[in-house]
Amino acid sequence: MAFEAALDLTGRLVVCTTGGAEVLGVLGGLVGAGAQVLLVAPDPVNAVRDVAPHGRVRLEPREFRAADLDGAALVVCRADQAEIRAAAAQRAIALTLLPLATAATPAVPARPPQAGKVVLVGGGPGDPGLLTIAGLRAIQSADVVVSDRLAPLAALREARADAELIDVAKIPRGPQTSQTAINDLLVRHARAGRLVVRLKGGDSFVFGRGGEEWEACARAGIPVEVLPGVSSATAAPALAGIPLTHRTLTQGFTVVSGHLPPGDPGSTIKWEPLARAGTTLVVLMGVATLPAITATLLRAGLPTCTPAATIARAGMPGELTIRGTLGDIAAEAARADVRPPAVTIIGAVAGFDPSAGG
Ligand code: SAH
Repeated sequence: MAFEAALDLTGRLVVCTTGGAEVLGVLGGLVGAGAQVLLVAPDPVNAVRDVAPHGRVRLEPREFRAADLDGAALVVCRADQAEIRAAAAQRAIALTLLPLATAATPAVPARPPQAGKVVLVGGGPGDPGLLTIAGLRAIQSADVVVSDRLAPLAALREARADAELIDVAKIPRGPQTSQTAINDLLVRHARAGRLVVRLKGGDSFVFGRGGEEWEACARAGIPVEVLPGVSSATAAPALAGIPLTHRTLTQGFTVVSGHLPPGDPGSTIKWEPLARAGTTLVVLMGVATLPAITATLLRAGLPTCTPAATIARAGMPGELTIRGTLGDIAAEAARADVRPPAVTIIGAVAGFDPSAGG
């Protein structure tokens, strides 16, 4: 019989021996607890690959060797990894077992087929504390959770032990699961009578393709419920201490995608009027394109000294805020090696200092 005990993992080695979606919730918790995580698995899912570059998880995509356990304080493995369980037991290393329900072992539908539905859950910017209570309840009751890389992955630990967890992370300019494949997955599981939670970062309807997923479900006659989330567009500046509006500074904010640079044939954004709008500008998906965006705004007449700030990994481990001006924010962000996900705020509020006002 297992005995639960608290373990201080600060700076301690934790070895994870599975790279499936079932490990995602635990990884978030381990990183948060300050552990040094070594993940050894031959074929990790995209969201696991995505955690590694941020320096908190050492990923070794290969088979497990007993020597991996040298110096480990804790081993995290799947319940069916008998050899690893035995190796950990032999060395008296504490063990966390992950439930087996994965894509390979579908959960048994808990409801009659006609009851299947899809719940689009906006998960907030990454910190599970910023997930709504309704979103959490949906995860807890789901038969299937289909999650993105920017979703609050630590909240996956709240899923039922027999729930099927599916990672469909799209890595920017890297491995992708196609939107059609995601739509098909949602429809297929809901048709089998399952309660499907589609868990995303931020809000599903802010650059989250929630509309497309809803359309796909509607075409298939699958009912959809929408649970709004805290978008990074507002959460990232708030966490960095930047009020998007301020009575004495600006009367609004405009949120745009920076995925396509100004002048790209596919871009529908009119950057020149934005430079004159007098509202705070919030740019999502604009790390690679920040030099082109700031140059365009400068050419359109926005002053070089306009305050600007880039907030990366808001509400996640490694959160970083770079402050500067329209003239230098792109260079400052590059110097700090800012990588997605990041939001850039341009406008007077980006220079907000609460101690200076009043
Ligand atoms: N639906 C999401 C946005 C998805 S588009 C939302 O409402 O937040 C992905 C972009 O969102 C990223 O490129 C980045 O610009 C932003 N983003 C998402 N999570 C973030 C976070 N934790 N910190 C900073 N930016 C984030």
